[in-house]
Amino acid sequence: MQRKKYMLTLTELKTLLATPQRIVITTHHKPDGDAMGSSLGLYGYLIQKGHHVKVITPTDYPTFLHWMPNNGDVIIFTEQQEAAARLVEEASLIFCLDFNTLSRINELGELVRASGAKKIMIDHHLEPEDFDDYRHWDINACAAAQLVYDFIVNQLQDGGLINKDVASCLYTGIMTDSGSFRFPSATSEVYRIAANLIDLGADQSKIHELVYDNSSENRLRFLGYCLSNKLEVLRDYNTAIISVTKEELAQYHSITGDTEGVVNYALSINGIRLAALIIERPDKVKLSVRSTGDFPANEICKKYFNGGGHRNAAGGAAEKPLNDVVNEFKSILAEYKEQLIA
Ligand code: 5GP
Ligand code: MN
Repeated sequence: MQRKKYMLTLTELKTLLATPQRIVITTHHKPDGDAMGSSLGLYGYLIQKGHHVKVITPTDYPTFLHWMPNNGDVIIFTEQQEAAARLVEEASLIFCLDFNTLSRINELGELVRASGAKKIMIDHHLEPEDFDDYRHWDINACAAAQLVYDFIVNQLQDGGLINKDVASCLYTGIMTDSGSFRFPSATSEVYRIAANLIDLGADQSKIHELVYDNSSENRLRFLGYCLSNKLEVLRDYNTAIISVTKEELAQYHSITGDTEGVVNYALSINGIRLAALIIERPDKVKLSVRSTGDFPANEICKKYFNGGGHRNAAGGAAEKPLNDVVNEFKSILAEYKEQLIA
């Protein structure tokens, strides 16, 4: 890729990190396990080096991630805008984890762009925007947390500082983004990294329980409602769709994180190659799209819903009534019929 400007070398970055810096770590809107795991993992490493570090998330995130070490130090931009803006402005380094376009961090994006800080991108999504000064980017990585591990261990050669807290956070990111080590991205190398993290103190069984067996009763009943009342299976296209209105979310007292993972149940039906969860949010309709094999979920999201993502896990949005979005999604399927029934 052609880069326009002067890039920071690893040696220069190491020199910067050798003295205390004012560091902000940020990650994408509605952070998931990898966003929080990579951010808090890097945080746990950097504080040991004597830096002044803050993690700033653009929005809140699911309660099943609140157990993570140093979660209490996270600043949520929408709740503390002035304090967050000041930290971004005064930072000397900003780490951007698990995203690669500034639009993914909402209003925080323009503040990051305007900051004089050196920006370090650690990410595994396609098509990065050219806003960074140092880039550790690999679309083959199963998680940003895997790249943070590689950054600390192989680039900074500081693996000795991966303590139990750091290991637990990085393990969480890898576990959640690899679908509990089952996606094709979960290579033998990923298993070796996970094994190292377990040796370094990550309690894999406990972490799995904290993340996946931590649902509220409302959340589980909402899932049951979606599966029995809202699931539409379009056998002609090997596609399954679940759509949810604002009223249905309210009826189940849905909170951030409650809809996460629902789309995977639709994809788990035998023969289904494409699944979408289409949700009416206050300001727009959000789509979560998943696929199996080489079917490009991200292409549909990019082409029709102003979004993107990975081949098998992507998302987008539309500013139209929910029903229109559902119908638009269905109408698109004809174009992909051959691939969907292959
Ligand atoms: P989720 O469905 O879990 O919200 O998102 C799955 C993946 O799709 C994310 O990891 C991210 O890569 C991508 N994604 C979700 N929403 C958007 C969006 O609005 N724009 C872009 N570019 N990517 C998205
Ligand atoms: Mn990720």
